[in-house]
Amino acid sequence: MNKDQIEGLKKELSSPRNIVIVPHKNPDGDAVGSVTALYGYLIQLGHKVTMISPNDFPTFLKWMDYSDLFVNYEQESKKADALINEADLIFNLDHNAFHRAGNMETILSEVKSTFVMIDHHQQPDDFATYMYSDTAMSSTCEMIYHFLEMLGDTEKITPAMATAMYTGILTDTGSFKYRSTTSTTLRVAANLVDKGANSEGINRKIYDVNTPSRMKLLGVALNNMVILEKYRTAFITLTQKELDDNNFKKGDTEGFVNYALSLDGIVFAQILIEKKSESIIKTSLRSKGDFDVNQLARDNWEGGGHKNAAGGKSDLSMDDTVKKLISILPYYEKELHEVVI
Ligand code: 5GP
Ligand code: MN
Repeated sequence: MNKDQIEGLKKELSSPRNIVIVPHKNPDGDAVGSVTALYGYLIQLGHKVTMISPNDFPTFLKWMDYSDLFVNYEQESKKADALINEADLIFNLDHNAFHRAGNMETILSEVKSTFVMIDHHQQPDDFATYMYSDTAMSSTCEMIYHFLEMLGDTEKITPAMATAMYTGILTDTGSFKYRSTTSTTLRVAANLVDKGANSEGINRKIYDVNTPSRMKLLGVALNNMVILEKYRTAFITLTQKELDDNNFKKGDTEGFVNYALSLDGIVFAQILIEKKSESIIKTSLRSKGDFDVNQLARDNWEGGGHKNAAGGKSDLSMDDTVKKLISILPYYEKELHEVVI
């Protein structure tokens, strides 16, 4: 965000405003973390702030401060539409296109408001008056920290805000593991610890909250894993029946795809998860090195994301989706072999 944009935003925020903050559909740690951290900041400035989520998020994020204050668009769309229609400013966090806000796409496309985008995904749409888009960033939560730095307001970071930002950085970097983790990311995380984020406690609340049924489902997923050495690829399938048989709860399959990617020599991993309620197969793609799953997801799975982590969907049956996944690989064989890890 350049100086003019920061000055403009400072002016917008210099008197009380109606503000709405929106994460992407199926909010993850970075989405909930960035939205609640920004909420914690904006209420200190005296604004009327509402967080509106396109749908619910997993229980393992519900311990976070302010997370109980979200308006869930799936349950309260009328109330949410009214709030959006009244908003002077709408912050779109951790997404860069209205369609990523699921069923909120229509109202967001139609409303006349001033949009502020803070996001680290590839290929942003052009809807925001104030746009802070940086694909080199580890997480939107890291960007919220830099945003507060640009506004000269890091002293307003409360322990709750520090905890929220630390959580998003932690989850979006795979616990500081991915290439997107720079020395600056680590410095930001360290500053957040100084401001009251408890690293051990956050890790426990995010990662040590497994249920027996989730562990059983992981067992099913690992059993279903298919390794295609020729393409340095591994994929996992989970049918609706397998989810139902193991008492599936939102968020239970989070991170499963990483087990496939953790195989030595594998550079591309994909998970296919049947979602009968929407008649789709939801897919997550992960890669190592220079293999670009954002492009692969855009070209084949109606999705996108980042170079090493993307998502998408298929309208085919599970069997046909598996066939499609396998049929695509020969087109990427050369690229997959060239990946240096
Ligand atoms: P996940 O696989 O964990 O759901 O998502 C991985 C990354 O891809 C996240 O940054 C997420 O925002 C993005 N992503 C997930 N699903 C989709 C999708 O359907 N479309 C697009 N454009 N991005 C997605
Ligand atoms: Mn993110």
